[in-house]
Amino acid sequence: MIVNCTSCGREINLDHKVFDDYSGPVKCFCCGIMMEVEVTDGFLHSINPLTITECAPANRFREA
Ligand SMILES: [Zn+2]
Repeated sequence: MIVNCTSCGREINLDHKVFDDYSGPVKCFCCGIMMEVEVTDGFLHSINPLTITECAPANRFREA
């Protein structure tokens, strides 16, 4: 499955078994934006940009 980035419009390849039934974040490798996608049975239900881009989850553990 191919989805379009909500920010830069580039195609993001989600052609993997994992994404046939997936709900969670996806990152655009072109502009680096994070998006929340919801896929059921290989059908894309929703795609929304995530606004939290500055703080990666990994950084949070390093600070704690
Ligand atoms: Zn993008």
